[in-house]
Amino acid sequence: MNSIQMVDLVGQYKEIKTEIDKAISAVLLSAKFVNGPEVHEFATNLKNYTGAGFVVPCANGTDALQIAMMALEFERGDEIIVPAFTYVATVEAIALLGLKPRLVDVDPDTFNINPKSIEQNINSRTRGIVAVHMFGQAADMEEIMKIAQKNNLKVIEDNAQSIGCEITFSDGSKRQAGTIGHIGTTSFFPSKNLGAYGDGGAIFTSDGQLSDRLKTISSHGQRQKYCYDEIGVNSRLDTIQAAILNVKLKKLDEYISRRQKIAAYYDAQLGSLDNVSIPKRNKKSTHVFHQYTLKLHNKDRGVFQDYLKGKGIPTMIYYPLPMHLQKAYLHYGHKKGDFPISEKLCEEVISIPMHTQMNDAALEFITGIIRQYFE
Ligand SMILES: *Cc1c(COP(=O)(O)O)cnc(C)c1O
Repeated sequence: MNSIQMVDLVGQYKEIKTEIDKAISAVLLSAKFVNGPEVHEFATNLKNYTGAGFVVPCANGTDALQIAMMALEFERGDEIIVPAFTYVATVEAIALLGLKPRLVDVDPDTFNINPKSIEQNINSRTRGIVAVHMFGQAADMEEIMKIAQKNNLKVIEDNAQSIGCEITFSDGSKRQAGTIGHIGTTSFFPSKNLGAYGDGGAIFTSDGQLSDRLKTISSHGQRQKYCYDEIGVNSRLDTIQAAILNVKLKKLDEYISRRQKIAAYYDAQLGSLDNVSIPKRNKKSTHVFHQYTLKLHNKDRGVFQDYLKGKGIPTMIYYPLPMHLQKAYLHYGHKKGDFPISEKLCEEVISIPMHTQMNDAALEFITGIIRQYFE
């Protein structure tokens, strides 16, 4: 058995090497490294895949969040509701623009922002909500959109971890995560479910005017060449990455289904252990398993992690510290105990290997070793 990895990008590349190499080489021979035709082609492909009205490619998922907030015209001091248990980019973009992150707690079972906590934190300064679809499963968008509508708030979906995840609404209709809020954002960081071979990102909206602003802002605020209508940024998806993503997007459904099969195997093997919770599914959305995250109860996580490491099984802690206790964000005035669920999750979670190249031998080995530890 090969050594076990959290993600296996080399193995994945080898499977699609011929197509990828051809795509990269075509860009090299065209020398259209910036804004080449592959970028527009990818925007169209991603629009068709997701069902989004408009897709604006950009340089990375963090930029996507910042550009989204600039386009929504949030102003200094506006409060934006955001989960305390998330990747830093979500809160960082809010803080960088001089907005105030209004942190709220999450649901302990799904790791996603809790609509009730959103409602409790709305005040006269609130302008927006950033819903993060954690680990591959969507937040309760139907409820969040209702709350937003009632309170006249803009919703951004941070879909960096859940591209391809499908949400079912109570009327039976289905839509992809990232296409429901006013704006959706995603990342093509290499280890994401749709990963480039470098940085990349995209922004979704169903609003044509908003899409025009997103495009303008991501291109220095420029509508006509050398005419700048507003202050923007420089954030482009480069052509080589777009060419790679065109190949990989065609595989995304298969990749998701491989991840779901691994998750089902983990569920069956680990679901009955006493000190472990397997990731809980929410009925309103599919789960595309960016991560397979366990929670440990009444067991020392560090000892468990070291034990697995000793057996050659890597694990990761997403995330070890909630946003309100991070040094950079302490000035917002929070203290330990303010978001007890997020804090507890940070102590309990442990993500185990999940990627498209896992084989049966690795799965049997990993689950066997984990069961041995708890049984
Ligand atoms: C990865 C990630 C981002 C940032 O994406 P980059 O492309 O690395 O900038 C933002 N939000 C979440 C939830 C992420 O997981």
